Amino acid sequence: MKAVKVPKPFEIRIEDVPEPEVRAETDVKIRITSGGICGSDVGIWNGTNSLAVYPRIIGHEFGGIVTETGKNVKSVKPGDQVTVDPVMSCGHCYACRIGRHNVCSTLEVLGVHRDGGFCEYVCVPEKNVHKFHTKMDEKMLSVAEPFTIGTEINRRGQIGKGDQVLIMGAGPIGIAAMQCAKRNGAEVLMTDLVPSRLDRAKRMGADRTVLIHPQGQQGKDQGQELDAELAAFTGGEGIPVVVDTVCIPSSFEQSVQLASPAGRVVVIGLKNQPSRITMADITKKELTIVGSRLNCGCFDEVIEGLEDGTLHAEEFVTHVFPYYEVEKAFQMIREHPQEVLKAVITF
Ligand SMILES: [Zn+2]
Ligand SMILES: [Zn+2]
Repeated sequence: MKAVKVPKPFEIRIEDVPEPEVRAETDVKIRITSGGICGSDVGIWNGTNSLAVYPRIIGHEFGGIVTETGKNVKSVKPGDQVTVDPVMSCGHCYACRIGRHNVCSTLEVLGVHRDGGFCEYVCVPEKNVHKFHTKMDEKMLSVAEPFTIGTEINRRGQIGKGDQVLIMGAGPIGIAAMQCAKRNGAEVLMTDLVPSRLDRAKRMGADRTVLIHPQGQQGKDQGQELDAELAAFTGGEGIPVVVDTVCIPSSFEQSVQLASPAGRVVVIGLKNQPSRITMADITKKELTIVGSRLNCGCFDEVIEGLEDGTLHAEEFVTHVFPYYEVEKAFQMIREHPQEVLKAVITF
Protein backbone atom coordinates (compact mmCIF):
# COMPACT_ATOMS: atom_id res chain seq x y z
CA MET A 1 0.00 0.00 0.00
CA LYS A 2 1.02 3.63 -0.39
CA ALA A 3 2.15 5.61 2.64
CA VAL A 4 3.38 9.16 3.24
CA LYS A 5 6.73 8.80 4.95
CA VAL A 6 9.19 11.26 6.40
CA PRO A 7 12.49 9.34 6.37
CA LYS A 8 14.38 12.27 7.84
CA PRO A 9 13.84 16.03 8.24
CA PHE A 10 13.12 17.93 5.02
CA GLU A 11 12.29 14.80 3.07
CA ILE A 12 8.80 13.52 2.35
CA ARG A 13 8.12 10.50 0.16
CA ILE A 14 5.32 8.27 -1.02
CA GLU A 15 6.52 4.73 -0.29
CA ASP A 16 5.16 1.25 -0.84
CA VAL A 17 4.91 -0.44 2.55
CA PRO A 18 3.28 -3.73 3.65
CA GLU A 19 -0.45 -3.51 4.30
CA PRO A 20 -1.24 -4.02 8.01
CA GLU A 21 -3.24 -7.10 9.03
CA VAL A 22 -5.82 -7.76 11.72
CA ARG A 23 -3.86 -9.71 14.33
CA ALA A 24 -5.41 -9.07 17.73
CA GLU A 25 -9.03 -9.94 18.46
CA THR A 26 -9.70 -6.27 19.13
CA ASP A 27 -8.01 -4.92 15.98
CA VAL A 28 -9.96 -2.82 13.50
CA LYS A 29 -8.70 -2.43 9.94
CA ILE A 30 -9.64 0.84 8.27
CA ARG A 31 -9.31 2.03 4.69
CA ILE A 32 -8.20 5.62 5.12
CA THR A 33 -10.12 8.19 3.10
CA SER A 34 -8.75 11.40 4.55
CA GLY A 35 -5.94 12.81 6.67
CA GLY A 36 -5.63 16.32 8.09
CA ILE A 37 -2.25 18.06 8.05
CA CYS A 38 -1.38 19.64 11.39
CA GLY A 39 1.31 22.09 12.47
CA SER A 40 3.01 19.20 14.23
CA ASP A 41 3.24 17.23 10.96
CA VAL A 42 5.01 20.22 9.47
CA GLY A 43 7.24 20.12 12.58
CA ILE A 44 8.15 16.48 11.93
CA TRP A 45 8.93 17.36 8.33
CA ASN A 46 11.13 20.36 9.16
CA GLY A 47 12.79 18.74 12.16
CA THR A 48 11.38 21.10 14.83
CA ASN A 49 9.13 18.47 16.47
CA SER A 50 11.33 17.26 19.32
CA LEU A 51 9.08 14.25 19.97
CA ALA A 52 9.31 12.73 16.50
CA VAL A 53 11.23 9.53 15.77
CA TYR A 54 12.35 8.88 12.16
CA PRO A 55 11.58 7.34 9.73
CA ARG A 56 7.90 7.88 10.29
CA ILE A 57 4.56 7.45 8.48
CA ILE A 58 3.06 10.74 9.59
CA GLY A 59 -0.54 11.75 10.28
CA HIS A 60 -2.47 11.80 13.55
CA GLU A 61 -5.70 13.26 12.13
CA PHE A 62 -7.33 10.57 10.01
CA GLY A 63 -10.46 8.63 9.32
CA GLY A 64 -11.98 6.22 6.89
CA ILE A 65 -14.10 3.13 6.44
CA VAL A 66 -13.85 -0.11 8.40
CA THR A 67 -12.91 -3.04 6.16
CA GLU A 68 -12.26 -5.84 8.68
CA THR A 69 -12.53 -6.47 12.42
CA GLY A 70 -10.98 -8.88 14.92
CA LYS A 71 -13.42 -11.40 16.35
CA ASN A 72 -14.00 -9.57 19.64
CA VAL A 73 -14.76 -6.18 18.10
CA LYS A 74 -18.29 -5.10 19.00
CA SER A 75 -18.64 -1.36 18.44
CA VAL A 76 -17.94 -1.17 14.68
CA LYS A 77 -18.41 -3.34 11.59
CA PRO A 78 -17.15 -3.29 7.99
CA GLY A 79 -18.61 -0.36 6.08
CA ASP A 80 -18.82 1.97 9.10
CA GLN A 81 -17.37 5.46 8.75
CA VAL A 82 -14.94 6.04 11.61
CA THR A 83 -12.18 8.25 12.91
CA VAL A 84 -9.25 7.33 15.12
CA ASP A 85 -8.05 8.72 18.44
CA PRO A 86 -4.24 8.83 18.00
CA VAL A 87 -3.52 8.71 21.77
CA MET A 88 -1.95 5.44 22.98
CA SER A 89 -1.50 4.99 26.73
CA CYS A 90 -0.34 2.28 29.15
CA GLY A 91 -3.47 2.07 31.31
CA HIS A 92 -1.69 1.68 34.65
CA CYS A 93 0.49 4.73 35.43
CA TYR A 94 -0.82 7.44 37.80
CA ALA A 95 -2.28 9.61 35.01
CA CYS A 96 -3.98 6.61 33.39
CA ARG A 97 -5.37 5.41 36.75
CA ILE A 98 -7.08 8.73 37.41
CA GLY A 99 -8.54 8.88 33.90
CA ARG A 100 -6.03 11.29 32.33
CA HIS A 101 -4.54 8.86 29.81
CA ASN A 102 -3.64 11.66 27.37
CA VAL A 103 -0.70 12.50 29.66
CA CYS A 104 0.30 8.87 30.29
CA SER A 105 3.89 8.62 31.51
CA THR A 106 4.68 6.45 28.46
CA LEU A 107 2.33 8.26 26.07
CA GLU A 108 2.61 7.47 22.39
CA VAL A 109 0.82 9.31 19.61
CA LEU A 110 0.12 7.70 16.24
CA GLY A 111 1.96 9.61 13.54
CA VAL A 112 4.52 10.97 16.01
CA HIS A 113 5.97 8.18 18.19
CA ARG A 114 4.42 5.38 16.12
CA ASP A 115 3.42 5.16 12.47
CA GLY A 116 0.30 7.18 11.77
CA GLY A 117 -2.56 7.41 9.35
CA PHE A 118 -1.28 8.98 6.12
CA CYS A 119 -1.48 5.65 4.28
CA GLU A 120 -4.10 3.50 2.62
CA TYR A 121 -4.85 1.18 5.56
CA VAL A 122 -4.29 1.13 9.30
CA CYS A 123 -5.00 -1.47 11.98
CA VAL A 124 -5.75 0.03 15.38
CA PRO A 125 -7.30 -1.18 18.65
CA GLU A 126 -11.09 -0.92 18.87
CA LYS A 127 -10.87 1.45 21.84
CA ASN A 128 -9.23 4.07 19.60
CA VAL A 129 -11.94 3.84 16.93
CA HIS A 130 -14.96 6.17 16.98
CA LYS A 131 -17.93 5.79 14.72
CA PHE A 132 -19.94 8.42 12.83
CA HIS A 133 -23.67 7.79 13.01
CA THR A 134 -24.78 9.91 10.07
CA LYS A 135 -23.16 9.75 6.67
CA MET A 136 -20.21 12.12 6.32
CA ASP A 137 -18.37 13.34 3.25
CA GLU A 138 -15.35 10.97 3.01
CA LYS A 139 -12.87 13.82 2.97
CA MET A 140 -14.27 15.08 6.30
CA LEU A 141 -13.61 11.86 8.23
CA SER A 142 -10.30 13.23 9.54
CA VAL A 143 -11.73 16.46 10.88
CA ALA A 144 -12.75 15.29 14.36
CA GLU A 145 -9.25 15.26 15.89
CA PRO A 146 -8.56 19.01 15.79
CA PHE A 147 -11.98 19.56 17.38
CA THR A 148 -11.03 17.14 20.18
CA ILE A 149 -8.11 19.49 20.92
CA GLY A 150 -10.68 22.31 21.17
CA THR A 151 -12.92 20.19 23.40
CA GLU A 152 -10.06 19.32 25.74
CA ILE A 153 -9.17 23.03 26.00
CA ASN A 154 -12.78 23.76 26.98
CA ARG A 155 -12.84 20.99 29.56
CA ARG A 156 -9.51 22.03 31.08
CA GLY A 157 -10.63 25.67 31.18
CA GLN A 158 -14.03 24.65 32.56
CA ILE A 159 -15.66 26.75 29.87
CA GLY A 160 -19.42 26.66 30.19
CA LYS A 161 -22.64 28.53 29.67
CA GLY A 162 -22.31 32.28 30.08
CA ASP A 163 -18.52 32.28 30.33
CA GLN A 164 -16.65 35.01 28.54
CA VAL A 165 -13.55 33.69 26.84
CA LEU A 166 -10.58 35.32 25.15
CA ILE A 167 -8.93 33.08 22.58
CA MET A 168 -5.60 34.44 21.36
CA GLY A 169 -4.84 33.22 17.83
CA ALA A 170 -7.36 32.36 15.08
CA GLY A 171 -5.55 29.35 13.59
CA PRO A 172 -7.11 25.88 13.45
CA ILE A 173 -6.83 25.22 17.20
CA GLY A 174 -8.17 28.66 18.10
CA ILE A 175 -11.13 28.21 15.72
CA ALA A 176 -11.84 24.68 16.99
CA ALA A 177 -11.67 25.86 20.63
CA MET A 178 -13.97 28.78 19.74
CA GLN A 179 -16.62 26.56 18.15
CA CYS A 180 -16.49 24.16 21.09
CA ALA A 181 -16.85 27.12 23.50
CA LYS A 182 -19.81 28.44 21.52
CA ARG A 183 -21.32 24.95 21.63
CA ASN A 184 -20.94 25.09 25.43
CA GLY A 185 -22.82 28.40 25.55
CA ALA A 186 -19.84 30.73 26.07
CA GLU A 187 -19.15 34.10 24.47
CA VAL A 188 -15.84 34.38 22.63
CA LEU A 189 -13.52 37.24 21.71
CA MET A 190 -10.66 36.24 19.39
CA THR A 191 -7.44 38.05 18.52
CA ASP A 192 -5.01 37.60 15.65
CA LEU A 193 -2.42 39.53 13.65
CA VAL A 194 -4.14 38.84 10.33
CA PRO A 195 -7.42 40.57 9.35
CA SER A 196 -8.55 37.77 6.99
CA ARG A 197 -8.18 35.18 9.75
CA LEU A 198 -10.35 37.31 12.02
CA ASP A 199 -12.97 37.72 9.28
CA ARG A 200 -13.09 33.96 8.98
CA ALA A 201 -13.29 33.58 12.78
CA LYS A 202 -16.29 35.90 12.79
CA ARG A 203 -17.98 33.99 9.98
CA MET A 204 -17.39 30.78 11.89
CA GLY A 205 -18.95 32.03 15.12
CA ALA A 206 -16.66 34.34 17.13
CA ASP A 207 -18.69 37.04 18.90
CA ARG A 208 -15.98 39.67 18.69
CA THR A 209 -12.56 39.99 17.14
CA VAL A 210 -9.64 42.32 17.80
CA LEU A 211 -6.80 42.82 15.35
CA ILE A 212 -3.43 42.87 17.08
CA HIS A 213 -0.75 45.05 15.50
CA PRO A 214 2.76 43.69 15.61
CA GLN A 215 4.79 45.57 18.20
CA GLY A 216 5.85 49.04 17.15
CA GLN A 217 3.87 49.07 13.90
CA GLN A 218 1.67 51.99 12.87
CA GLY A 219 2.39 53.67 16.19
CA LYS A 220 -0.53 51.89 17.80
CA ASP A 221 -0.45 50.58 21.31
CA GLN A 222 -1.86 47.08 20.97
CA GLY A 223 -2.18 46.65 24.72
CA GLN A 224 -4.48 49.64 25.09
CA GLU A 225 -6.66 48.66 22.17
CA LEU A 226 -7.16 45.12 23.45
CA ASP A 227 -7.71 46.39 27.00
CA ALA A 228 -10.45 48.72 25.78
CA GLU A 229 -12.15 45.97 23.76
CA LEU A 230 -11.97 43.55 26.68
CA ALA A 231 -13.40 46.18 29.03
CA ALA A 232 -16.31 46.71 26.65
CA PHE A 233 -16.78 42.95 26.25
CA THR A 234 -16.84 42.21 29.98
CA GLY A 235 -18.30 45.43 31.35
CA GLY A 236 -14.93 46.25 32.87
CA GLU A 237 -14.73 43.08 34.95
CA GLY A 238 -11.74 41.52 33.22
CA ILE A 239 -11.78 38.32 31.22
CA PRO A 240 -12.41 35.14 33.26
CA VAL A 241 -10.97 32.65 30.76
CA VAL A 242 -7.96 33.11 28.47
CA VAL A 243 -6.86 30.47 25.96
CA ASP A 244 -3.39 31.02 24.52
CA THR A 245 -3.02 29.36 21.12
CA VAL A 246 -0.24 31.76 20.07
CA CYS A 247 2.17 29.81 22.29
CA ILE A 248 5.11 32.18 22.63
CA PRO A 249 6.61 33.36 25.95
CA SER A 250 5.02 36.83 25.66
CA SER A 251 1.54 35.48 24.86
CA PHE A 252 1.66 33.35 28.00
CA GLU A 253 2.70 36.41 30.00
CA GLN A 254 -0.10 38.43 28.45
CA SER A 255 -2.67 35.70 29.22
CA VAL A 256 -1.76 35.77 32.90
CA GLN A 257 -1.93 39.58 32.95
CA LEU A 258 -5.30 39.75 31.20
CA ALA A 259 -7.11 37.07 33.21
CA SER A 260 -9.53 38.45 35.80
CA PRO A 261 -9.32 37.63 39.51
CA ALA A 262 -10.32 33.97 39.98
CA GLY A 263 -9.74 33.49 36.24
CA ARG A 264 -8.47 30.51 34.29
CA VAL A 265 -5.65 30.41 31.75
CA VAL A 266 -5.32 27.49 29.34
CA VAL A 267 -1.88 26.83 27.90
CA ILE A 268 -1.22 24.49 24.95
CA GLY A 269 2.32 25.45 23.87
CA LEU A 270 5.16 22.95 23.86
CA LYS A 271 8.01 25.45 23.64
CA ASN A 272 10.80 25.30 26.17
CA GLN A 273 11.54 29.02 26.44
CA PRO A 274 10.68 30.48 29.87
CA SER A 275 8.11 33.23 30.35
CA ARG A 276 8.43 35.96 32.98
CA ILE A 277 5.54 35.30 35.30
CA THR A 278 5.87 36.03 39.00
CA MET A 279 4.33 34.19 41.91
CA ALA A 280 2.40 37.35 42.75
CA ASP A 281 0.82 37.35 39.27
CA ILE A 282 -0.77 34.01 40.10
CA THR A 283 -1.38 34.35 43.84
CA LYS A 284 -2.95 37.81 43.92
CA LYS A 285 -5.72 36.85 41.51
CA GLU A 286 -5.75 33.19 42.61
CA LEU A 287 -5.49 32.17 38.97
CA THR A 288 -5.90 28.64 37.73
CA ILE A 289 -3.33 27.98 35.02
CA VAL A 290 -3.80 24.67 33.26
CA GLY A 291 -2.08 22.83 30.45
CA SER A 292 -4.15 21.11 27.79
CA ARG A 293 -2.63 18.34 25.70
CA LEU A 294 -4.15 16.22 22.95
CA ASN A 295 -7.56 14.92 24.11
CA CYS A 296 -8.88 12.77 26.89
CA GLY A 297 -11.88 10.87 25.58
CA CYS A 298 -13.31 13.80 23.60
CA PHE A 299 -14.09 12.06 20.30
CA ASP A 300 -17.69 11.09 20.93
CA GLU A 301 -18.60 14.60 22.05
CA VAL A 302 -17.01 16.01 18.88
CA ILE A 303 -18.82 13.54 16.63
CA GLU A 304 -22.06 14.60 18.30
CA GLY A 305 -21.21 18.25 17.58
CA LEU A 306 -20.34 17.53 13.93
CA GLU A 307 -23.59 15.62 13.53
CA ASP A 308 -25.87 18.12 15.27
CA GLY A 309 -24.34 20.99 13.28
CA THR A 310 -22.81 22.94 16.17
CA LEU A 311 -19.28 22.22 14.89
CA HIS A 312 -18.67 23.12 11.25
CA ALA A 313 -16.40 20.73 9.37
CA GLU A 314 -17.07 22.12 5.88
CA GLU A 315 -15.75 25.59 6.63
CA PHE A 316 -12.90 24.17 8.69
CA VAL A 317 -11.35 22.28 5.77
CA THR A 318 -10.10 24.93 3.36
CA HIS A 319 -7.82 22.85 1.08
CA VAL A 320 -7.95 19.30 -0.27
CA PHE A 321 -5.11 17.47 -2.05
CA PRO A 322 -4.75 13.87 -3.26
CA TYR A 323 -2.14 12.03 -1.13
CA TYR A 324 0.45 12.00 -3.92
CA GLU A 325 0.45 15.80 -3.81
CA VAL A 326 1.25 15.88 -0.10
CA GLU A 327 4.42 17.84 -0.75
CA LYS A 328 2.38 20.49 -2.55
CA ALA A 329 0.06 20.62 0.47
CA PHE A 330 2.99 21.18 2.83
CA GLN A 331 4.29 23.88 0.53
CA MET A 332 0.90 25.59 0.48
CA ILE A 333 0.81 25.59 4.29
CA ARG A 334 4.34 26.96 4.46
CA GLU A 335 3.89 29.67 1.86
CA HIS A 336 0.30 30.73 2.56
CA PRO A 337 -0.26 30.09 6.26
CA GLN A 338 -2.90 32.83 6.37
CA GLU A 339 -5.12 31.18 3.77
CA VAL A 340 -4.96 27.60 4.98
CA LEU A 341 -7.07 26.75 8.01
CA LYS A 342 -6.97 22.98 7.52
CA ALA A 343 -5.55 21.13 4.54
CA VAL A 344 -6.48 17.47 4.12
CA ILE A 345 -5.06 14.79 1.86
CA THR A 346 -7.33 12.14 0.42
CA PHE A 347 -6.64 8.49 -0.34
ZN1 LIG B 1 -3.05 17.90 15.09
ZN1 LIG C 1 -0.21 5.42 31.48
